[in-house]
Amino acid sequence: MNVIQIKDKQFAVSIPEARILQEVDRVAAEINRDLAGKNPLFLSVLNGSFMFTADLMKRIEIPCEISFVKLASYQGTASTGRVKEVIGLNEDLAGRTVVIVEDIVDTGLTMRQLLDQLAAHRPQEVRIATLLLKPDKLQVDLHIDYVAMQIPNDFIVGYGLDYDGLGRNYKDIYTVVSD
Ligand code: 5GP
Repeated sequence: MNVIQIKDKQFAVSIPEARILQEVDRVAAEINRDLAGKNPLFLSVLNGSFMFTADLMKRIEIPCEISFVKLASYQGTASTGRVKEVIGLNEDLAGRTVVIVEDIVDTGLTMRQLLDQLAAHRPQEVRIATLLLKPDKLQVDLHIDYVAMQIPNDFIVGYGLDYDGLGRNYKDIYTVVSD
Protein backbone atom coordinates (compact mmCIF):
# COMPACT_ATOMS: atom_id res chain seq x y z
CA MET A 1 0.00 0.00 0.00
CA ASN A 2 1.87 3.02 -1.25
CA VAL A 3 -0.97 5.49 -0.85
CA ILE A 4 -3.58 5.47 1.90
CA GLN A 5 -6.60 7.62 2.63
CA ILE A 6 -7.35 8.68 6.20
CA LYS A 7 -10.46 10.80 6.54
CA ASP A 8 -9.96 13.86 4.29
CA LYS A 9 -6.24 13.33 3.62
CA GLN A 10 -4.10 11.17 1.37
CA PHE A 11 -0.73 9.90 2.52
CA ALA A 12 2.10 8.22 0.58
CA VAL A 13 4.88 6.03 1.95
CA SER A 14 7.91 8.17 2.73
CA ILE A 15 9.97 5.91 5.00
CA PRO A 16 9.57 2.17 4.48
CA GLU A 17 9.78 -0.21 7.44
CA ALA A 18 13.19 -1.60 6.40
CA ARG A 19 14.75 1.87 6.54
CA ILE A 20 13.12 2.61 9.91
CA LEU A 21 14.49 -0.62 11.37
CA GLN A 22 17.99 0.13 10.07
CA GLU A 23 17.97 3.38 12.02
CA VAL A 24 16.44 1.72 15.10
CA ASP A 25 19.31 -0.80 14.95
CA ARG A 26 21.81 2.05 14.94
CA VAL A 27 20.18 3.90 17.85
CA ALA A 28 19.99 0.68 19.89
CA ALA A 29 23.67 0.00 19.28
CA GLU A 30 24.53 3.53 20.47
CA ILE A 31 22.47 3.07 23.64
CA ASN A 32 23.96 -0.40 24.31
CA ARG A 33 27.40 1.17 24.06
CA ASP A 34 26.72 4.39 26.01
CA LEU A 35 24.62 3.07 28.87
CA ALA A 36 26.24 -0.27 29.68
CA GLY A 37 26.40 -0.72 33.45
CA LYS A 38 23.89 2.07 34.13
CA ASN A 39 20.71 -0.03 34.35
CA PRO A 40 18.74 2.64 32.49
CA LEU A 41 15.03 3.15 32.94
CA PHE A 42 13.36 3.65 29.57
CA LEU A 43 10.27 5.87 29.78
CA SER A 44 8.10 5.37 26.74
CA VAL A 45 5.70 8.23 26.02
CA LEU A 46 2.38 6.76 24.85
CA ASN A 47 0.55 6.52 22.53
CA GLY A 48 2.72 7.50 19.58
CA SER A 49 5.92 5.75 20.60
CA PHE A 50 4.54 2.24 21.13
CA MET A 51 5.94 0.72 17.91
CA PHE A 52 9.29 2.47 18.16
CA THR A 53 9.55 1.39 21.80
CA ALA A 54 8.85 -2.26 20.96
CA ASP A 55 11.39 -2.39 18.12
CA LEU A 56 13.99 -0.46 20.11
CA MET A 57 13.66 -2.57 23.25
CA LYS A 58 14.04 -5.83 21.28
CA ARG A 59 17.50 -4.57 20.37
CA ILE A 60 18.62 -3.40 23.82
CA GLU A 61 21.00 -5.97 25.24
CA ILE A 62 22.07 -4.34 28.51
CA PRO A 63 20.18 -4.76 31.81
CA CYS A 64 17.40 -2.15 31.87
CA GLU A 65 13.84 -1.44 32.90
CA ILE A 66 10.93 -0.06 30.92
CA SER A 67 7.90 1.94 31.96
CA PHE A 68 5.17 3.87 30.17
CA VAL A 69 3.77 7.35 30.70
CA LYS A 70 1.15 9.49 29.05
CA LEU A 71 0.92 13.23 28.73
CA ALA A 72 -2.42 14.72 29.71
CA SER A 73 -3.04 18.06 28.06
CA TYR A 74 -4.91 20.80 29.90
CA GLN A 75 -5.23 24.59 29.86
CA GLY A 76 -2.87 26.19 32.39
CA THR A 77 -2.78 29.84 33.43
CA ALA A 78 -2.60 32.68 30.91
CA SER A 79 1.19 32.71 31.20
CA THR A 80 1.77 28.95 30.99
CA GLY A 81 -0.74 28.29 28.18
CA ARG A 82 -1.43 24.65 27.40
CA VAL A 83 0.32 22.37 29.85
CA LYS A 84 1.11 18.70 29.36
CA GLU A 85 1.25 16.83 32.64
CA VAL A 86 2.99 13.46 32.97
CA ILE A 87 0.65 10.77 34.22
CA GLY A 88 1.28 7.13 35.11
CA LEU A 89 4.79 7.56 36.45
CA ASN A 90 5.11 4.99 39.27
CA GLU A 91 8.87 4.47 39.36
CA ASP A 92 11.31 6.18 41.68
CA LEU A 93 13.61 8.13 39.36
CA ALA A 94 15.98 9.37 42.06
CA GLY A 95 19.59 8.68 41.05
CA ARG A 96 18.55 6.79 37.90
CA THR A 97 19.64 7.09 34.28
CA VAL A 98 16.37 7.75 32.44
CA VAL A 99 15.91 7.48 28.67
CA ILE A 100 12.77 9.16 27.33
CA VAL A 101 11.47 7.27 24.28
CA GLU A 102 9.40 9.63 22.09
CA ASP A 103 7.83 9.35 18.65
CA ILE A 104 8.58 12.81 17.29
CA VAL A 105 10.06 16.11 18.39
CA ASP A 106 8.48 18.95 16.44
CA THR A 107 8.63 22.35 18.20
CA GLY A 108 10.20 20.61 21.21
CA LEU A 109 7.77 22.26 23.64
CA THR A 110 6.34 18.90 24.75
CA MET A 111 9.82 17.53 25.43
CA ARG A 112 10.80 20.67 27.34
CA GLN A 113 7.77 20.30 29.64
CA LEU A 114 8.49 16.61 30.14
CA LEU A 115 12.14 17.26 31.03
CA ASP A 116 11.13 19.96 33.52
CA GLN A 117 8.66 17.64 35.24
CA LEU A 118 11.07 14.72 35.37
CA ALA A 119 13.78 16.94 36.89
CA ALA A 120 11.60 17.30 39.99
CA HIS A 121 12.08 13.54 40.58
CA ARG A 122 15.86 14.01 40.86
CA PRO A 123 17.15 11.51 38.27
CA GLN A 124 20.91 11.33 37.88
CA GLU A 125 20.67 11.83 34.12
CA VAL A 126 17.92 12.10 31.50
CA ARG A 127 18.59 11.21 27.88
CA ILE A 128 16.22 11.55 24.94
CA ALA A 129 15.68 8.97 22.22
CA THR A 130 13.31 10.07 19.48
CA LEU A 131 12.25 8.24 16.37
CA LEU A 132 11.81 11.45 14.40
CA LEU A 133 12.97 15.05 14.57
CA LYS A 134 11.77 17.99 12.49
CA PRO A 135 14.88 20.15 12.94
CA ASP A 136 13.44 23.18 11.13
CA LYS A 137 10.54 23.42 13.58
CA LEU A 138 12.53 23.19 16.81
CA GLN A 139 11.81 26.27 18.96
CA VAL A 140 13.59 25.41 22.21
CA ASP A 141 17.14 24.56 23.13
CA LEU A 142 17.17 20.77 23.52
CA HIS A 143 19.97 18.26 23.58
CA ILE A 144 18.60 15.16 21.88
CA ASP A 145 20.94 12.24 22.45
CA TYR A 146 19.51 9.75 19.98
CA VAL A 147 17.62 10.59 16.77
CA ALA A 148 16.63 7.75 14.46
CA MET A 149 15.66 10.03 11.54
CA GLN A 150 15.35 13.70 10.67
CA ILE A 151 12.40 14.67 8.47
CA PRO A 152 11.03 17.80 6.76
CA ASN A 153 8.12 19.76 8.22
CA ASP A 154 5.33 17.75 6.58
CA PHE A 155 2.70 15.91 8.64
CA ILE A 156 3.29 12.16 8.88
CA VAL A 157 1.41 9.09 10.12
CA GLY A 158 2.09 5.40 10.61
CA TYR A 159 4.50 3.36 12.73
CA GLY A 160 2.63 4.50 15.85
CA LEU A 161 1.76 8.05 14.77
CA ASP A 162 -1.83 9.01 14.11
CA TYR A 163 -4.08 11.40 12.26
CA ASP A 164 -7.14 11.97 14.43
CA GLY A 165 -6.66 8.60 16.14
CA LEU A 166 -6.20 6.66 12.90
CA GLY A 167 -3.14 5.31 11.10
CA ARG A 168 -1.04 4.15 14.06
CA ASN A 169 -1.13 0.55 12.84
CA TYR A 170 0.81 0.98 9.58
CA LYS A 171 4.33 -0.47 9.58
CA ASP A 172 5.73 2.23 7.28
CA ILE A 173 5.78 6.01 7.74
CA TYR A 174 3.55 8.02 5.40
CA THR A 175 3.65 11.71 4.53
CA VAL A 176 0.58 13.75 3.70
CA VAL A 177 0.29 14.42 -0.04
CA SER A 178 -3.04 16.26 -0.23
CA ASP A 179 -5.46 18.09 2.06
P1 5GP B 1 6.06 19.37 19.90
O1 5GP B 1 5.65 19.72 21.31
O2 5GP B 1 7.48 18.92 19.77
O3 5GP B 1 5.72 20.48 18.94
O4 5GP B 1 5.08 18.21 19.42
C1 5GP B 1 5.29 16.89 19.71
C2 5GP B 1 4.02 16.10 19.48
O5 5GP B 1 3.27 16.60 18.36
C3 5GP B 1 4.38 14.67 19.14
O6 5GP B 1 4.54 13.88 20.30
C4 5GP B 1 3.20 14.26 18.27
O7 5GP B 1 2.17 13.80 19.09
C5 5GP B 1 2.75 15.55 17.59
N1 5GP B 1 3.28 15.65 16.21
C6 5GP B 1 4.19 16.54 15.75
N2 5GP B 1 4.41 16.38 14.43
C7 5GP B 1 3.62 15.35 14.04
C8 5GP B 1 3.40 14.69 12.78
O8 5GP B 1 3.97 15.01 11.70
N3 5GP B 1 2.51 13.66 12.78
C9 5GP B 1 1.85 13.26 13.90
N4 5GP B 1 1.01 12.22 13.77
N5 5GP B 1 2.04 13.85 15.09
C10 5GP B 1 2.91 14.89 15.16
